[in-house]
Amino acid sequence: MGLTMGDPAVKVQLFRFIDALPALKDATSVRRHLREFLDEAGAKVPSWMNVAVDLAPEGSMRAELLAATATWAATNMARRFIAGSDPREALQTVLRLRQRGIGFTADLLGEAVISEAEADIYQQSCLSLISGLVGSLDDEPERPGIDRGFDGPVPRVNLSIKLTSLTTDFDALHAEATAAAVCGRLRPILREAQRLGAYVHVDMEQYAHKDLTLEIFRRVLSEPEFLNWPDVGIVAQAYLAETFDDLKGLRDWAEARGTPVTIRLVKGAYWDYEVIHAQEAGWPVPVYTEKWQSDANFERCSRFLMENSRVLRPALASHNVRSLAAGLAVAESLGVPKNAYELQVLHGMGEPIARALVASEYRVRVYTPYGAILPGMAYLVRRLLENTSNESFLKASFVDRREVDDLLRNPEEVGTMLGIRRRTKATPAVVIQAPFCNEPLTDFTRRPAREAMLAALKRVEGALGRTYPLRLDGNEIRSTGTLDSTDPGRSSRLVGRFAMATADHASLAVRIAREAAPGWAATPASDRAAVLMRAAVILRERKFDLAAWEVYECAKPWREADGDVAEAIDFCEFYAREMLRLAQPVVRDVPGETNRIEVIPRGVAVVIPPWNFPLAIPCGMTVAALVAGNPVILKPAEQSPTIAWHLAEILGEAGLPPGVLQFLPGEGEDIGRALVEDPGVDLIAFTGSVKVGLEINRSAAQSRPGMDHVKRVIAEMGGKNAIIIDDDADLDEAVLGVVRSAFGYSGQKCSACSRVIVLDRIYEAFVVRLAEAARAVVIGQAEDPETVVGPLIDAEAADRIRMYSGLAETEGRVVARGNPGPLVQHGHFVAPIVVADVLPSARLAREEIFGPVVVVLRASDLADAIEIANGTSYALTGGIYSRSPANIERIRRSFRVGNLYINRPITGAIVDRQPFGGFKLSGIGTKAGGSDYLREFLLTRTVTENTLRRGFAPEDDPVGTESIGTGL
Ligand code: NAD
Repeated sequence: MGLTMGDPAVKVQLFRFIDALPALKDATSVRRHLREFLDEAGAKVPSWMNVAVDLAPEGSMRAELLAATATWAATNMARRFIAGSDPREALQTVLRLRQRGIGFTADLLGEAVISEAEADIYQQSCLSLISGLVGSLDDEPERPGIDRGFDGPVPRVNLSIKLTSLTTDFDALHAEATAAAVCGRLRPILREAQRLGAYVHVDMEQYAHKDLTLEIFRRVLSEPEFLNWPDVGIVAQAYLAETFDDLKGLRDWAEARGTPVTIRLVKGAYWDYEVIHAQEAGWPVPVYTEKWQSDANFERCSRFLMENSRVLRPALASHNVRSLAAGLAVAESLGVPKNAYELQVLHGMGEPIARALVASEYRVRVYTPYGAILPGMAYLVRRLLENTSNESFLKASFVDRREVDDLLRNPEEVGTMLGIRRRTKATPAVVIQAPFCNEPLTDFTRRPAREAMLAALKRVEGALGRTYPLRLDGNEIRSTGTLDSTDPGRSSRLVGRFAMATADHASLAVRIAREAAPGWAATPASDRAAVLMRAAVILRERKFDLAAWEVYECAKPWREADGDVAEAIDFCEFYAREMLRLAQPVVRDVPGETNRIEVIPRGVAVVIPPWNFPLAIPCGMTVAALVAGNPVILKPAEQSPTIAWHLAEILGEAGLPPGVLQFLPGEGEDIGRALVEDPGVDLIAFTGSVKVGLEINRSAAQSRPGMDHVKRVIAEMGGKNAIIIDDDADLDEAVLGVVRSAFGYSGQKCSACSRVIVLDRIYEAFVVRLAEAARAVVIGQAEDPETVVGPLIDAEAADRIRMYSGLAETEGRVVARGNPGPLVQHGHFVAPIVVADVLPSARLAREEIFGPVVVVLRASDLADAIEIANGTSYALTGGIYSRSPANIERIRRSFRVGNLYINRPITGAIVDRQPFGGFKLSGIGTKAGGSDYLREFLLTRTVTENTLRRGFAPEDDPVGTESIGTGL
């Protein structure tokens, strides 16, 4: 720890080493990782450490010794904070604590719960811990200091539990389903505790879970069987700006309930996570960003607890002497007796403080986590972060030996000294203006967002089944043929009936577009960009309605639909700014000659999108073409015309002149083909399957009568994406990452993971956990917020997946198969499957399946894994889970994909941050949402003028910076 405090880079690398250590199985691997992590930290590593590693070459006895020493050191450190690896060891710790007059609360460390079986195991462990500890402590002599409170005995056994471990998918998005699952497993624990006279405390974790955790706590404890039971409590985190109001809510509830509960007030252990997570998502940061603010809030909340100690029994948990002392002083001034509240510290931390408090006859309880070291590492790293943080009281007092006056200063004073006015609210949300900022996703863990979405679903449901005309040159046109769009989850439900364009309509649309082309090209780029900016505003205003349309028309689950709308907004905002940048001509003047390199539109663009990102992809391709000055004919996918119709409407409302955008629904093979073949078309922007993409390429390349140009084709096509799992990977994260990448939107994403390549050593363990996690994936209707795997888009897609499911029986071993049950009678539901032991040559491992089917392949080592990963004709997305810096670097260099993701899921690219697109048969290599994309829709010209007239050249530029073609 001393080492890590010296330098942040060394700290990060040593913590990474500790995090990886439990997954490293032999000395060679431990030595290799240590070397790699030290190399990453660079020059900041103390030289003795480098020498120690260098003197122990791989395979030598010294390497064995080095590995043993490193493992011993880390395990020893873990033992400081973890009270034991099994219940027996935990009991020893508890007994030792009691002898010193200190109480305990036992916390069961666990891996992330990713299957129902694991949630059951957690529940069972809690039950046996309660009965085991009660049995062992019953005969212990009473210790009044800890076993007796002001109103009677205090339970000797005290258990802290995490509600997120009582279900596979704790998510406020589907609050009711989560609450039902959690309550189902929680009630037996509470009953057992009640029966045996034990106490249960509910821990608090990330902010996203807070409201639902509170809600479940209040709900269960209001049930008649628990109504009069006081031996329960919950955590409040002072670093959250909302906590004070939450405490008021809890006070009112507890008063109404008529029985007190305990509140453990902490500062909060997820500060770094909360800040990074909120900033990454563009959400308001929920925690105070200044340490003194959390400290001040802690004092404010402790006062509140002491004032209401009759119904909210205070348990102040901190290692900050000032924070604790402030609470004690308030208690004293209010006359709250010492045995009406307690003070808590963590095992292995703040021991001198605990000793001093016991000596002063306060009731002290130690939070004692126990469990295997492997899952305990996440806990250990949190503790290490806390101990080594520059803001830590412990570090400031015991290591840095700061002045006592400094340490005990009132946090409000600290704030004033820092010249910062105290903020009562969290930092406000990022406002989107120039420069470009990604549109934040909706935070569905907040109730108002869920209510807005439910209201939109209701509104849109009432608008289903309408008929829609073609729109040519701003005129509505009916046609004899119609195209029905239906709800994939309820095939009998009509979403919209569309007039179907014919080949004649297609050629008329091209003529109209050609007429509109010069005027649109001459419109200043800034005016064209303004249309996109206005469209972004309208999209934002209607985001819930548009997402609701996606739910019904494409069976997109809530978050996926919301993400698609956000991406459409991003495309408008991003390409608008990009066009303004590109519209500035590049100037390369020399004396006597001016040179302007400028861009001009290509001409008439045809946009042919798929259905799977029903707003973002058509929107991105359309607005890119438009802002570059090209009129567009938008032929939506047959499966998602309604959403494309809304897009066309919004662009019209945003000020697009009629004739510049034609909306032409119809069959791809019919009018799609006609548009591609039309000699009047200059550019085709296509996203879809490789089969159609190649056909479009072939057809567009053909010269036809009346054609005086070569058509430009932008084609984004399929993928056969792989995630490699290295043998030191964090399996919790890897399994969850694969499940998300493979089954999100039923695997119907071009970026979806359809191959998992696992290194031999961990192959079996990984397959078992992946299979369990896959079985826990919820299959349902898209409008149900719990759903992960909904129906497939149409009957043809469902038939295709059934065919591959059949093939799976011969090409591999099906280790998990979901069960859609009676849903199959209503819509295009299929069973998601995981197929292990598939060979790279198998059809399942080579063909794009585009559904909830994931195959697992075994690789002997990393080189083998890379060869398998690259051994397909696609190169779209790929990923690796590994903790080895060297292996990550190797993958970076040799995994040939357009978008490579390291230690995270491989779907969900974000405009500008992760420009998206692949090569080989996945596409032509253009990156949607990147800075090169608009150039595909533009031609570049160079204009050179000789400014020398009879030996005289003007000093100033005669052409100015007006660009001719773009009309700027
Ligand atoms: P698809 O190729 O069947 O259809 C795409 C579009 O092409 C539709 O609008 C369709 O009407 C039209 N079309 C069909 N035949 C045509 C023809 N002969 N001439 C002209 N147009 C024709 O693909 P899909 O099922 O809609 O979408 C799924 C595919 O899209 C998958 O292969 C997926 O990987 C791919 N995709 C790729 C990306 C990417 O960025 N690379 C993104 C999304 C989807």
